[in-house]
Amino acid sequence: MAKSTHKDIKQLLIMAGKVLVAQGQDDFTRGHISFRLPDNPKLFFMKAHSIGLDEITMQNILTIDLEGNVVAGSARRHSEVYIHSEIFKARADVNCVIHTHPTYSVAFSATGRPMKCYGQPGALFYEALGVYADTINLIRSHAMGAGVARALGRHRAVLLKNHGVVVTGRSIEEAVVGTIMLENAAMVQLIVEAAGDPAPEFSRADIEKLKHDIGQPEQFKVNFDYLVRRVKRRGK
Ligand SMILES: [Zn+2]
Repeated sequence: MAKSTHKDIKQLLIMAGKVLVAQGQDDFTRGHISFRLPDNPKLFFMKAHSIGLDEITMQNILTIDLEGNVVAGSARRHSEVYIHSEIFKARADVNCVIHTHPTYSVAFSATGRPMKCYGQPGALFYEALGVYADTINLIRSHAMGAGVARALGRHRAVLLKNHGVVVTGRSIEEAVVGTIMLENAAMVQLIVEAAGDPAPEFSRADIEKLKHDIGQPEQFKVNFDYLVRRVKRRGK
């Protein structure tokens, strides 16, 4: 991403939004995605308020600083901007932040149970998923955003209990595919636990090997690129 122009990044954000909606990550106009500018790490691009994730355009993307102030763009800013600004402050390794309200992840967050590895995507979050349980309300202050960043810790994702998910990545591709994998892991776990009496899990070492293998950057890019081609083929 280091060589990407601002135009390249905005085009990737536009496609990321369409992929997320095609994958069922939409909740009316709620949910947002941001990306840190490679040439100015104190600024990030972010989806605007009042539009769907699939309605991001070159014109309505906002440029925002680490205090949550809009420095370029005229669209309305999401009040939950502090999720993004505080994570970018706390995590120099994170370049992309996604927040959505996916059904199974929200339901799973309400159980308060730890994420298990009942399917392969679960490995990515095995003993590596934060939980923010201070409030069900919107994250509308620096302090609340900082709380989410603390709950995220060094992990790639954090559940906002009874609210949604926040998934990070070094790249847009990693954050988008991570968000979709988290939803799948939550769905599989809810099905397993509803069925009851799960068989013993695989060993920690076995799960950690899978976590390593499926967490490689090229895995995220290959799968994101496929989802982009699929969106383009379907015309939505
Ligand atoms: Zn939310």
